[in-house]
Amino acid sequence: MASQAQIRNFLAHWFQLGKPVVLAENRGQCLPEPIYQNGDYSKSFEDCWHRIMVTGGQDCYLEGTSQSIAAMLSPAWEVTPCARCDMPLAIPIAGPMNYPCPCSDLMSWPNTDMPMPRTAVDNRQHLSDLRQRLTEGNEWSTSESTESYPNG
Ligand SMILES: [Zn+2]
Repeated sequence: MASQAQIRNFLAHWFQLGKPVVLAENRGQCLPEPIYQNGDYSKSFEDCWHRIMVTGGQDCYLEGTSQSIAAMLSPAWEVTPCARCDMPLAIPIAGPMNYPCPCSDLMSWPNTDMPMPRTAVDNRQHLSDLRQRLTEGNEWSTSESTESYPNG
């Protein structure tokens, strides 16, 4: 069974490649921008997730796939990396695999010239590393700019 966190991560990855979610009851499509903000999911993403969850994911699906978000949340499905492109892919745990990865209709994917979609969690780690490095950098430049620094 795929958890909500896995499905949110799955959607976030495909959103980064421009794949929208088709909403239930002809409520149109949803492609949040930005997807991440301050190392977490953006408000735009949360709004989209809310619109999906209005129907519990029923009749909402990622463009290019046939299973609904509700089905993915059921015990019969799991999220696993695609063998072709490493993107998260929803597959039924039992039965034949008749569900191609959404990458199958993206001619330009996988694309080694493009950075792989990232997760908010990695981003947060990256930002905290960056902040740490900046703090260290500031301390260093303060001690170096002391005018009375002895020569040799
Ligand atoms: Zn794929």
